[in-house]
Amino acid sequence: MSVDLSLHPCFDPKARHKYGRIHLPVAPRCNVQCNYCSRSFDCANESRPGVTSGILSPAQAVEYLDKLMARKKNVTVVGIAGPGDPFANPDETLETLRLVREKYPEILLCLATNGLNILPYIEKLKDFNISHVTITVNAVDPEIVKRVYSWYRYDKKVHGAKEGAEEILKRQLEAIRQLKKAGITIKINTVVLPGINDAHIADVARVVAENGADVQNCIPCYRNPGTLFENIIPPTPQEMAAIRNEAGKYIKQMSHCARCRADAAGLIGEEMDPEDTADLKMSAAGCGGEYVDNTQIEKSVQEILQSRPYVAAASMEGAMINVHLGEAMSFMILGKDNKGGVKLIATRNAPPSGGGIIRWKELGKLLSDCGAVFVSGVGAKPRYTLMAMGVQVLVAEGLVIDAATAALYGKPLKGILKVQKSRCGQSCSGSGGGCG
Ligand code: SF4
Ligand code: SF4
Repeated sequence: MSVDLSLHPCFDPKARHKYGRIHLPVAPRCNVQCNYCSRSFDCANESRPGVTSGILSPAQAVEYLDKLMARKKNVTVVGIAGPGDPFANPDETLETLRLVREKYPEILLCLATNGLNILPYIEKLKDFNISHVTITVNAVDPEIVKRVYSWYRYDKKVHGAKEGAEEILKRQLEAIRQLKKAGITIKINTVVLPGINDAHIADVARVVAENGADVQNCIPCYRNPGTLFENIIPPTPQEMAAIRNEAGKYIKQMSHCARCRADAAGLIGEEMDPEDTADLKMSAAGCGGEYVDNTQIEKSVQEILQSRPYVAAASMEGAMINVHLGEAMSFMILGKDNKGGVKLIATRNAPPSGGGIIRWKELGKLLSDCGAVFVSGVGAKPRYTLMAMGVQVLVAEGLVIDAATAALYGKPLKGILKVQKSRCGQSCSGSGGGCG
């Protein structure tokens, strides 16, 4: 089957405002450690590789894809970009590609990898009619390569920075040659790291072009807290322009990269839609089937409350937490007073019922200064939609004042939260009329 390459928003700048892509986060492991990479957080507002709101099995990935394809009519590409490396989880990657290809014969399939372990799978990629592969090549001199990675895992062993540098480079270049032979379009991602490889980017461009790569995407580094390279100052736009100009003498340059998340969905640069994140979390949880771990809830409430000053509560008479999220007509908004207690900041009317997902998005906006909302019950979709918008939904019982005090002052929520462990959706105790 031939594919129309002009439909790929990452490879063709003319397509970027018109066509979208969906990343399926099915590959959590990585076989190298890049010194600029951290995959340790899930933040809805964080847009960069390695970040995802959930990990999917191949079957869950297709279930999630079906939901998104039903409402996004401009998606032409499905990609796998981690959050680790697709070929550190080759079984999950190949099974996902197989399932997606079977169900969506026309869609463009795409992969982003460090190239260390792609070689054994190139025949399979041809079978699935993969049209685009991105390989990250940050240097073509082993002396520079070894400064970029801390370790590599191949041949069932972990190898040190120096030992593996020649091997990864050899495999990356061989992969480019074989992908080219297979008729696959190859993009090279190069992370520009001042003081490490910034004077070497044109060499990378020349060598990858000689081996058959089609386009290069030079990406300014990003300061990831907790990584070895966290103190490297990213290059300025002027420096990037000069680097691209030089590298462009050897290979076509792409400059509209938005450093996509491993679960990016939609047009390049578009914000994550909370409904997509909710669907991802529900599919990842095998929903209804997620177990809610209250220790995690407490941690996330405390983290959210560092940037949001209030909590909300649904109460009939203003004393007890006794209203289901879907049935709440209004929410009490509570904050700290200056005597170590809590005070009512406001009462806000809930968005009208019956609006489906729009209602939950409106509610997320209404509670945008609240880290958590206490309710007597909630359905899975509203809960995950609000979570995606930064509001933790806590199914609780007892007095509003006790719950608000505990949350706002970082005290344990145990005894306030209604269920120690609950199945997603099963904690819902509403009449069934309010969640639409
Ligand atoms: Fe493919 Fe990367 Fe674009 Fe995703 S962001 S669709 S993996 S090129
Ligand atoms: Fe992170 Fe990708 Fe590097 Fe793995 S290959 S460490 S996921 S940037």
